[in-house]
Order: sequence, then structure tokens, then C-alpha cells
Amino acid sequence: MFELGIEGAHVAIGGELRPVNVYVEQGRFRAFSDTVLEAKQRIQATGLLMFPGVIDSHVHSRDPGLTHKEDFLHSTRAAAAGGVTTVLEMPNSVPPVTDRASFLSRQAHLAEQATVDFGMWGMVTSETSPQDIEDLSSLGVSAFKLFWGYALDRETRALVYVPKAGQPVIPPPDNGRVLELFQLLAQAKKVLAVHAEDNAIIAFRSQHAGESRDAVERLLWERPVVAEAATMELAAEFSQATGCAVHVVHMSSKAGVDIVRRARRSGIDMTAETCPQYLALTADDVKALGPVAKVYPPIRHAEDREALLAGLASGAVAFVASDHAPHAAAEKAVPFAEAPAGFAGVQTLFPVLLDLALRGQLPMACLPDILSRHPAERYGLFRIKGAIDVGFDADFVLVDPRAKTHLGRAELYSLNPENPWMGTELKGRITATYLRGQAVMENGKIVAHAGRFIKPEAR
Ligand SMILES: [Zn+2]
Repeated sequence: MFELGIEGAHVAIGGELRPVNVYVEQGRFRAFSDTVLEAKQRIQATGLLMFPGVIDSHVHSRDPGLTHKEDFLHSTRAAAAGGVTTVLEMPNSVPPVTDRASFLSRQAHLAEQATVDFGMWGMVTSETSPQDIEDLSSLGVSAFKLFWGYALDRETRALVYVPKAGQPVIPPPDNGRVLELFQLLAQAKKVLAVHAEDNAIIAFRSQHAGESRDAVERLLWERPVVAEAATMELAAEFSQATGCAVHVVHMSSKAGVDIVRRARRSGIDMTAETCPQYLALTADDVKALGPVAKVYPPIRHAEDREALLAGLASGAVAFVASDHAPHAAAEKAVPFAEAPAGFAGVQTLFPVLLDLALRGQLPMACLPDILSRHPAERYGLFRIKGAIDVGFDADFVLVDPRAKTHLGRAELYSLNPENPWMGTELKGRITATYLRGQAVMENGKIVAHAGRFIKPEAR
């Protein structure tokens, strides 16, 4: 007798959604059947869709260090509410995760608060040693992040987005050093993810902004497509020269899609992710929404949005992640030009993609790949996570495609839940989220707290 049976749903399995009964034993998928089998607990899911649990590989929970913005309890509850069963937590906490000691102390801190499963990123800086990379790899780091061109505050080691005059910093690695980091990560067989926006272009344009113009137009001018494209081209060359697997986070432009497609065709191990905000919104929406929709890189134009949607459907863009990066409401309640970049996104990642699919802007059949399978494959979690298949963790989401999701403040779990979709209604509704066969969210309520640290398999 199985522990759990999910009966009557259309299940995302083998690249399609088809009716099959799913059975779970010891927290893993064990059997699929056209007939009803014996199970202690049954979920009657007729009329619902069943997707693998979403893996959000790009989450900044601000914890420790900036917990007035967000903390891991809130972000992982928001994850559960949004169908996300695994988050990969970005390393730029204060202090950042750069070595053995910072990894271990943060891991213990996050484990106490995790409502869903989590992996951890490491950060490479100008001071990273081969020993740090070896230590973090053996501790089970998911991958390494390079904030290309960004300095760290000398005292707090916080990432510096806009340096203040006279601020003591650890300078960013120059490109000679970056090439060596690619080499070291190739040897360690770890993915290097890059924030690809050329900081010198941004700094120059910010200082030479010229005549005053609309704040949104100015942001697009200060952080142009060429800043993303130039860094991506360099990353592709460095990857080709070293064999390092490189991943571009939060890719925002049509030019980016073209570069990653070309690189992959010539055999370079480059992947890219984009985010819901680049798929559902354009700069015109940002003008209407204001500071809440300010992100780096900026949300661009219709041709970029369309190229990113097409790139996901064709496989050129590997997956979607949220770049969950909340700020306190007061920090965002300033003019657009002064507002910090980022907003709460982990809970809306799946609902926004589901809405796009139900509106016919993205094939429904590609959602399991771009939200679960591809991030699992890239970060060494596949065969543990990432698909509804025998032996995988029974992480899944039940969806009612005919219902609607209302995103009011009361429905959102982040400490600072403001996001561009707050107060709107999306097509489709997540009715339950299961982690290793256990319900963590049912009908909008968090019902369990069951997260564990997840270590990748060796590549
Ligand atoms: Zn980020």
C-alpha cells in the first residue's frame, strides 16, 4: 500500500500533460497507473493540473544582515505559497558566503527557518582562493556567483551597487583575475553564474547623463542592452577558453537571447535564465508602476519581451527564476531614480508564468522544463528534484486552471511583499504545494515547515 495517491489530475510527465494516477512512498514518486491503486491517503485531483515543484534558483532572502527587508522564514513561506519547493539562496548576505566559515554559519541559520528545501550559492570575489572553492564545493554549494564589476564594502563585505565617495571597498576582480576564476571553477566542475552588466559602461553613463529626461528612460540609457551583451560576449569567450560552465542570470534583452543561442550552437557551455518581470512587463508598464518595478537590468521593450518568450519556448533560454530581492516599503517610497532595485518575486514566479501560459503566450507544456527540470539539471539536482518521475522527491504543485489568483497583501507571505502584480488577478490558481509527499501549502495556508538543505550530486 502506498502512502499517498494523487488521482485524476493531468500530470506533467514526459513533456506532456496527461491523465494518470501518481503514487508516493517514503517521500518519493514510486508508481504511475491508469488504474486506482491502494493508498493510505488519497487526493482527488480531477480537473487539476499537477506540475513538479518549482525550483527558484535565484532568491535573495537578505538573511542574515538585512532582515528589515526580508528573512528566510518569510521568503520560504512565500515560496511554498507560490508552488516553489526548492530555493537556491544567493550568497550576498551580510557577511556574504565566500568561504567555509561563512557557509557553515549561514547554512545552520537558514536550516532553522526553511519552510521549503534550499540550496546555497557561494560568491567569488577578488580575494577568493582555490581552497575556498574546494571547501565550498565539498560542503555542497549549488554554484558560484560573480557580481562582475561590483566591489564589496571593506568593513561589512556587503555588495556595493553604487559606491559612495571615499567608501573603503574591496575592489572587484579585474578581467585577468576573472579569467583565472573561470579556470578554477572549470577545474572544480562548478557552474559560474554572472551578473552580466558592464559596470564601466553604467558608471560612465551615470556620470554623463546629460539633459534631464524621464527617470525610466534614463535608467534604460544608463543600463543599456550593450552593457548586458558586451559582458555576455566576454563570458562566452572566457567559457570557451577555459571550459567553465557559465550561466547568465536575469537576462533581459533580445541581444542576450541571440548571444546565448549562438554560443550554444558553437559548443560553448553557456546557459541563461530570465525572470517573470522581463516576460510579462515592458518599460511602459514600469512608467505606470513606478519604483516597485525598478530592477537591474531594467525591464526593456516589447521586442525584448517577445524574444525572451520565444527563447524559452525554443530552448535557447534555459529557465526562469525570480530574482526575489525585496526592500522595506520605506526604501522604495522615494523617487524612481533613488529607489533601490528589486522586489519580492518568489511567490509570483509560478503564478505569472502560469498566467502567461493560460493566455497563450508560452506553451503550457514547457513550464515543467523552464521552472523545474532545467534549473535542476544545471545545478546538479536532477534525479533528486526537477521532474515527476520514479525515484524523484515527491515535490509537486496542484493547479486549478479555471480558477483565478488574487494577489492581495493578505495573500502574500514576504516580509515586504510589494511587487508589480500586487492587487491584480492572474489566470489559474495553485491549490496545494507538496514537499517530499507532505503538504506545505493548502488553499493559500502554510500547513507545514519541512525544508532541508539540498546538496547537488557530483557533476
Ligand atoms: Zn539577483
